[in-house]
Amino acid sequence: MNAQQVSNPVDLFVIGGGINGCGIARDAAGRGYSVMLAEMDDLASATSSASTKLFHGGLRYLEYFEVRLVREALIEREVLLRAMPHISWPMRFVLPYHKDMRFEAETPTSKLLSVVMPWMKGRRPAWLIRLGLFLYDHLGGRKILPATETRDLRGSPEGAPLQERFAKAYEYSDCWVEDSRLVALNARDAEARGATIMTRTKVTRAAREGDLWRIEVQDMESGAAQTHYAKMLVNAAGPWVGNVIHETIDLPSKEGVRLVRGSHIVTRKLYDHDKCYFFQGTDGRIIFAIPYETDFTLIGTTDAEHRDPSEKPYCTDEERDYLIAFANKYFKKPISAEDVVWSYSGVRPLYDDGASSATAATRDYTLKVDATAGAPVLNIFGGKITTYRRLAESALEKIAEHLPDATGPWTAGVPLAGGDFPVDGVADLVGQLRARYPFLTDRWAKRLVRAYGTEAQVLLGAAKTAEDLGEDFGATLSEAEVVWLMDHEYARTAEDVIWRRSKLGLRLDAEQIATLEEWMKTRRERVAAAE
Ligand SMILES: Cc1cc2nc3c(=O)[nH]c(=O)nc-3n(C[C@H](O)[C@H](O)[C@H](O)COP(=O)(O)OP(=O)(O)OC[C@H]3O[C@@H](n4cnc5c(N)ncnc54)[C@H](O)[C@@H]3O)c2cc1C
Repeated sequence: MNAQQVSNPVDLFVIGGGINGCGIARDAAGRGYSVMLAEMDDLASATSSASTKLFHGGLRYLEYFEVRLVREALIEREVLLRAMPHISWPMRFVLPYHKDMRFEAETPTSKLLSVVMPWMKGRRPAWLIRLGLFLYDHLGGRKILPATETRDLRGSPEGAPLQERFAKAYEYSDCWVEDSRLVALNARDAEARGATIMTRTKVTRAAREGDLWRIEVQDMESGAAQTHYAKMLVNAAGPWVGNVIHETIDLPSKEGVRLVRGSHIVTRKLYDHDKCYFFQGTDGRIIFAIPYETDFTLIGTTDAEHRDPSEKPYCTDEERDYLIAFANKYFKKPISAEDVVWSYSGVRPLYDDGASSATAATRDYTLKVDATAGAPVLNIFGGKITTYRRLAESALEKIAEHLPDATGPWTAGVPLAGGDFPVDGVADLVGQLRARYPFLTDRWAKRLVRAYGTEAQVLLGAAKTAEDLGEDFGATLSEAEVVWLMDHEYARTAEDVIWRRSKLGLRLDAEQIATLEEWMKTRRERVAAAE
């Protein structure tokens, strides 16, 4: 078996099934490379399911003069929105203005202003925010998203949940994205184009053997070990990028990763309109409050140093209280720890650029190839969900220097599965779905369209009644949907289904989750026995 693999190695072996690994696998497979990807847990089980879920330019990065990153991300928002109008949608952000708003002392803009306008004492003036938003509107070829407006908060729905002292706000555009579904859909597309996607498969060791990589993997469920060979390795291990470099591959590299934890809290819905808030703090940081899963509000994020990627990140009481206190400076009706129904936390794998604070560390990506001692490896540092497709294109440029026989960039404008409909076509799709499946409630149909787009009809098949969809696991989760997720989206456990392929965990109780877990286990065993 091994001899055969040596004589027939894959072109690329990707370590890591987060957004960067899956984005690169998809792009590479579509260019004609043979690709294998190994993810040690579930797809998007680490950082790529724990983001704020925005396709955004990153308004605050302008204060760090990160113009390249912001411009690329702004242009990307609309490219991505068109390719996945089911899992991504435009959102308006309301930025209440108050004269007490302050910079983080480290930003280059803040340092510059403290020299030329020392009397401002670290305040973020209104004209600067307007300038930032002007750039935000014009740097990135905005065509679909509406422009910035100034808004009088008094007597308006946007002002209603806020304290009286906020009379004025700026309102600008960015987009939402279902981050973990984005990863699964990229993996699926990669597979449809010929890639092999292995989840619950850890790369335990990779070593150069002449012009090839010999890669040892372990099945995390059965413990079985396997060996693969590849011409090039891609290290997209996110927070583990350093572990892979120094332990799994044992490269003498000086490149470092900086782990910065970010946590979010979820409360019951705090206000009635569908816009987000961008709150600025007196510490120079910002947080978002975002309408979430129809009945909830998402608040985040924090920036805290995180030492060890194997330490599972969670929202500490301190981070929760920080977010609550921050939000309470804006909302009229104070929230408390009792209002928090869920929280999650992720670790940003940032390139270590030597910045002194976690907030200031660059959010841009850095790609480094090491080909000094034989077969090449590409190490990926940093990156945003928003720039994953562009990061993949840059990675493929570097890969082509070593593996030249492939076609060029192709992913811009090519929809992900279920995303082959117009950006403003969701309401039509929901209408069509309800007409064809009259047993669906409006909420249920919307959830299916937002998750599966045009594929919702394929998932529902010939069902005439809800009973035709098999077992009902609660909160509109049917057996047909679970089977779809297991067969087409690599789901293995209840957690994969209720916290990553969907957020139905917010609605199911412990008993319902246990029933789902047991059902999925039985089906896994049945399928394995039949193979
Ligand atoms: C709090 C927070 C908020 C954010 N908000 C946004 C946002 O709103 N918009 C935005 O654009 N970006 C945002 N980001 C950034 C974005 O989430 C990350 O940059 C991105 O998810 C990183 O993806 P990745 O693929 O590099 O890493 P990951 O998603 O962590 O994937 C790496 C994968 O590699 C696997 N792996 C590691 N070692 C091995 C091994 N030896 N064998 C097999 N598999 C292995 C891991 O299990 C993991 O799944 C946010 C990040 C955080 C933390």
